[in-house]
Amino acid sequence: MKILFATSECYPFLKTGGLGDVAYALPKALSAMGEDCRVIMPNYGTIKKEYKDKMTHLFSTTLKVGWREQFLGVEYLKKDGIEYYFIDNMYYFDREAPYGYFDDGERFSFFSSAILEILTRIDFVPEIIHCNDWHTAVVPVLIRTKYKWEKQFANVKTILTIHNLRFQGVYPPSVLSDLLGLGTELLQDFGFEYFGNVNYMKGGVNFADMVTTVSPTYAEEIKTEFFGEGLHGLMQKVSYKLVGIINGIDYSINDPRKDKDIPVNYGLKNVEKKYEVKKALQEELGLEIRQDVPLIGIISRLTDQKGFDLIAHAMEELLKNDIQLVVLGTGERRYEDMFRYFSFKYPQKVSSNITFNGPLAQRIYAGTDMFLMPSLFEPCGLSQMMALRYGSVPIVRETGGLKDTVAPYNKYTGEGIGFTFTNYDSYDMMQAVHRALELYKDKEAWRGIVLAGMRTDYSWKSSAREYLDLYKRLST
Ligand code: ADP
Repeated sequence: MKILFATSECYPFLKTGGLGDVAYALPKALSAMGEDCRVIMPNYGTIKKEYKDKMTHLFSTTLKVGWREQFLGVEYLKKDGIEYYFIDNMYYFDREAPYGYFDDGERFSFFSSAILEILTRIDFVPEIIHCNDWHTAVVPVLIRTKYKWEKQFANVKTILTIHNLRFQGVYPPSVLSDLLGLGTELLQDFGFEYFGNVNYMKGGVNFADMVTTVSPTYAEEIKTEFFGEGLHGLMQKVSYKLVGIINGIDYSINDPRKDKDIPVNYGLKNVEKKYEVKKALQEELGLEIRQDVPLIGIISRLTDQKGFDLIAHAMEELLKNDIQLVVLGTGERRYEDMFRYFSFKYPQKVSSNITFNGPLAQRIYAGTDMFLMPSLFEPCGLSQMMALRYGSVPIVRETGGLKDTVAPYNKYTGEGIGFTFTNYDSYDMMQAVHRALELYKDKEAWRGIVLAGMRTDYSWKSSAREYLDLYKRLST
């Protein structure tokens, strides 16, 4: 099948979170199954020169954005068998970060329009356009309205995957005519209307042929007021076309047997070597070098979503235990400062790394004993799967993808691969931490849970198959 995967980020060109991982791994898994899945993303100024140098320029033209004509260039790169298209416009995309600008609404409506515009000019007409999050959510609307008359789009089906419903892209009604060239009739419930404004995500959900989220539990949760971010009514309305498919992780990148970012490789057969990684990590981070102390890892965006107010509340109590904590993340200032404070107060016990560092993340997955992820909500979560793959036992709240991927440990049967709690409550979280610390003392049982986690299969194999079945169902 011919599939175009439209995304605002894609590893290794640009990644800020899970979407970047998915945009790399899912097309790769689909290609391995013999499908022609290509990826389209913005040509950000921060993409490394080694990739930019290899891109070939396909063509340039202009695109109407309201009353303006903007430059539109198309670069092309084939990497590891996957074909990538990069949409060029320095004014929109040559910035320090991919998101967080006053004109994000304009930048991504430009990108979305550009996707359809270039499809009328390149020799590739997909059967499916797979859009992701609000950044490309207007594509399903454009294709059924403004581009309705383009013959080659008549049979193209669209899927919109919601990676995180918190981010919806809400802008004033003027964007319809100013940026998208659409009429105000779309400012209604069947279109974009959201409290008098334009909501890109809502438009996409209404117009896409199929809507998916990244775990079955999250697909149910977003139909409720607590998780629905103001769109729970819409999610209930579209439940006939809403499904949850769990993400996977790329098993060739995330492989403790081959990972070049970790100092010692290990696998199921020689898992004790993991302790050499732990020692090296303690040394690298200036923590006390001790094999017997449980080392807990956190790798995350430092935001409310990830449960940091629970951690903030429990930090002193957590650190009363004989543990070490390593944190890698950036985000809200109050959490960054909180971790800085605790590593200042307990330099031998807490290491705070307030930065984004891919190789260090791999060393933390590999070098830690436990991985803490007490999210308030979690559409899927990839970090817990990476932790499992590297033998770091997850401690998670039972929500979204965390619930779907981390089976709780049962001390009577020895089944389960992590420690979980239900209520969003720091006391409950600490109970789960204490259960983990208790089991850690029993070396044999601990080895069992580590190996059970490493044996789970969260590769893309079965999820890619589910997407393919969906594509096929849609296009027949
Ligand atoms: P989300 O997409 O909500 O941020 P996920 O768990 O789905 O969360 O994916 C997060 C991805 O980003 C993982 O690959 C994780 O290792 C990576 N990551 C998060 N923060 C950092 C950081 N500070 N440095 C390096 N990698 C990070």
